[in-house]
Amino acid sequence: MFDKTMARKKTNHQINNHYDVIIIGGGLAGLSLANLLGSNSISVCCIDGVDPKKTCKESFDGRTVAISWASHKILESAGLWNMLQPDACPIQDIQILDGESPVLLELLSRDVNKSAFGWIVENHLLRRALYKGISEKETITLVAPMSVEDFSVFDDHAEAITKDGQTFSAPLIIGADGRFSKTRDWMNISVREWSYHQQAFVCTVAHTQSHNHIAVEHFNSEGPFAVLPLTDDKSGQHRSSVVWTESSRREQEIKSWSDERFNQELNLRFPDFYGDVHLVSPRSSFPLGLKHAYSYIGERMALVADAAHAMHPIAGQGLNMGFRDIAVISDLIVKAKAMEEDLGSDLLLRSYQTQRRADNTAMMAATDTLNKIFSIKTPPFAFLRKTGIKAVSRFKPAKRFFIKHAMGTAGVLPDLIEH
Ligand SMILES: Cc1cc2nc3c(=O)[nH]c(=O)nc-3n(C[C@H](O)[C@H](O)[C@H](O)COP(=O)(O)OP(=O)(O)OC[C@H]3O[C@@H](n4cnc5c(N)ncnc54)[C@H](O)[C@@H]3O)c2cc1C
Repeated sequence: MFDKTMARKKTNHQINNHYDVIIIGGGLAGLSLANLLGSNSISVCCIDGVDPKKTCKESFDGRTVAISWASHKILESAGLWNMLQPDACPIQDIQILDGESPVLLELLSRDVNKSAFGWIVENHLLRRALYKGISEKETITLVAPMSVEDFSVFDDHAEAITKDGQTFSAPLIIGADGRFSKTRDWMNISVREWSYHQQAFVCTVAHTQSHNHIAVEHFNSEGPFAVLPLTDDKSGQHRSSVVWTESSRREQEIKSWSDERFNQELNLRFPDFYGDVHLVSPRSSFPLGLKHAYSYIGERMALVADAAHAMHPIAGQGLNMGFRDIAVISDLIVKAKAMEEDLGSDLLLRSYQTQRRADNTAMMAATDTLNKIFSIKTPPFAFLRKTGIKAVSRFKPAKRFFIKHAMGTAGVLPDLIEH
């Protein structure tokens, strides 16, 4: 199945750093994977190029993540949810608006007998909990800041070579090194990719009235404007996170706005019930594009999360899909270890790919289609779109279908995850 020409019979040097699994990349996905494997007695080495002291700061990553119900179960299994919960704001109501229309579709968590659809957590707080989890588990070694520069594959193991010349070996190496994954390049795996010619502007705002745990997704022709509820700050100030997508044509113009002008524009776009709104964080922006690796596996190697698939944030599912990759590959590794089988076998890797590719492909197609459908301005299409959403809002099974996918409960979680 794999190109074995790179493989050599035996390593000819001494290796002191041997683990069950090596993870290249300690972003949100790599750190979560390390925690899940580590809490299941798998010895893991996670190597990341950036200093953890930097990545825990809000100024490093001002984004938030909508953690689905299924992803919270995965974090719970990794022993992290208790730590995160105080900073996680439950989403109990999702309101969808289209252009100038009032609320077209409203989804309530109580309609599906759940306390929340999911939770909004600030990325820097999620990172802090992930590092704490790692520091509490003897099974995990974090090597950071240190970049992996190369790797070699042998008959019975693979080796990652770091910038300072150290060699780390394991029967399986997992690339969690993000959308510009070098691991993917080393594995000679190409990607299907395109740009959305859109830019997501991200910031945190404070507002005078409570958000009442409502998440708002307002679809405009240039892109969605999303308001996601956050926990109040220490002084009791109500806060929300904004993901404002605009055409890349407007990138320089919007970046040039003063904070005062930005606040005025925010107040024009926020629904009235939030009261007065103002920025309480730096503003950051991200170019949006899709990348999907043609394969998630190579000899003794696998890709997870953004290294395998990076998608439009329109449905807040990028990392949630990554969490599902992590759950599936961890389940396979833990079972193989219990049976004393090879953790990097072709069989294990093929099973991982089979279980994850179709699900990720379907979500990428859905986010891509959603973005296209809501970008169409021409009257007949815009009318059909509104009629379609109204029909969904009146038809309970269709509503339930959307809710299940938003919560990540449409698929089955592997045995490793308690559910
Ligand atoms: C505006 C926006 C909003 C989003 N909102 C949501 C949301 O609400 N819900 C959701 O589920 N997803 C969301 N996402 C997607 C989510 O942010 C990503 O899926 C997630 O951050 C990917 O994490 P990762 O760990 O795979 O990659 P990354 O965060 O890119 O981490 C990769 C890591 O690998 C390290 N690395 C790279 N190369 C090397 C090397 N050679 N050696 C060592 N280390 C290396 C880097 O230092 C980095 O730490 C959003 C994305 C955007 C842009």
